[in-house]
Amino acid sequence: MKRRHFLHRAGSLVLLLGASDIAWGATIVAVRVWPAPDYTRVTLESDTPLQARHFVTSQPDRLVVDVDGLELSPTLREIVGKVRADDPYIAGVRVGQNQPRIVRLVIDLKQPIAPQVFTLAPVADYQHRLVFDLYPTVPIDPLMALIREKEEAERRAQAALNDALGEFIDRIGRGNHTTPPAVAAAPNPPASRRSDAEAGQRSRVNRLIIVALDPGHGGEDPGAIGPAGTREKDVVLAIARRLRDRINAEPNMRAMMTRDADFFVPLRQRVEKARRVQADLFISIHADAFTNPNARGASVYALSERGATSEAARWLANKENAADIVGGVNVKHSDAHVLRALMDMSTTAQINDSLKLGSAVLGHIGKIGRLHKPRVEQAGFAVLKAPDIPSILVETAFISNREEEQQLRSAEYQDQLADALMNGIRRYFQKNPPLARNRQL
Ligand SMILES: [Zn+2]
Repeated sequence: MKRRHFLHRAGSLVLLLGASDIAWGATIVAVRVWPAPDYTRVTLESDTPLQARHFVTSQPDRLVVDVDGLELSPTLREIVGKVRADDPYIAGVRVGQNQPRIVRLVIDLKQPIAPQVFTLAPVADYQHRLVFDLYPTVPIDPLMALIREKEEAERRAQAALNDALGEFIDRIGRGNHTTPPAVAAAPNPPASRRSDAEAGQRSRVNRLIIVALDPGHGGEDPGAIGPAGTREKDVVLAIARRLRDRINAEPNMRAMMTRDADFFVPLRQRVEKARRVQADLFISIHADAFTNPNARGASVYALSERGATSEAARWLANKENAADIVGGVNVKHSDAHVLRALMDMSTTAQINDSLKLGSAVLGHIGKIGRLHKPRVEQAGFAVLKAPDIPSILVETAFISNREEEQQLRSAEYQDQLADALMNGIRRYFQKNPPLARNRQL
């Protein structure tokens, strides 16, 4: 009797699951993994919303996620092969049908993490997204990263100097008396070789300038896509890296990249990273797109305190500000009042300096290519809202224009753009030397 009762219940359970399969079964349409030093993101995209529970274990470090209403499918299994060996956080992923209609993902970790798990409603080309952001328990500090990078560069310069000197001494030892190698007479020996007095002198007259470079979009947010399939996020990263190398080749300048990989950084975090390193400038790099494929040329934008300088500028600012929606921000976690406080701070001086920087950059870009707008335009770009850092957004060219898309892809044009931006930065500092500040990096 008892047994029959059990069978009956089991039977109805199966029947129930069969019915709910039709009503509630979600289909995974894509899985994506975005590894980066800041955090690694895993995205499951589905045709209906997914519900998930998660927990973290230590020793070994794992993130376990149970997704409801899901059957194991080949698309979902693809996640296993999408983890890269150099992922900073994920060692591997396993998926299995844990219970009927519950899929379990076990993410084996390389270090402890503080995960954020959230869902995103359909937007742009995406359907429903379930997102796991795997942040380190101690967040990456852009200032510490910059200091480490600077020390590393100095170590390399010192090693090169030692090699050159060693070679020179060898040659003298062999009786080959030639002039010392040029590198030994370099005008800017590494800081560690300078006396404290020399270092103090230099910092007063010529302190280190920090330029924040902000390649637009990234990760889940591809930005604009050209007719040949070129993604804005890729070309702007390539241009930013070329500009970074030019900045870092200057003896008194360092570049800080808000992203140096293909991952999404929320707009507010881009601003915060620049403020954390007390950047002297903030340059956001983008590629424009418009419905008319003939639109062409570069343009430069600054923040506006009241209203945009044109309807087109307002339209563009709205489009760029939508990056957070496409890229995917965990709304529950984002700190709304900090954002508001940042926006309410006075920006008049910042805007004046931004316009000067913008004009300097626009002048040099005009020498290498066509300009879309002959003067710096203004609108309410969220990414330009650091109240204390002159900030511009450069639309390098129209990726939606077939010819300019090809230019944006070419290393030669990327170099020309980086040169033009570098010359604009130099020009700005010639006219507006950086002010002294208390803290030295
Ligand atoms: Zn953009």
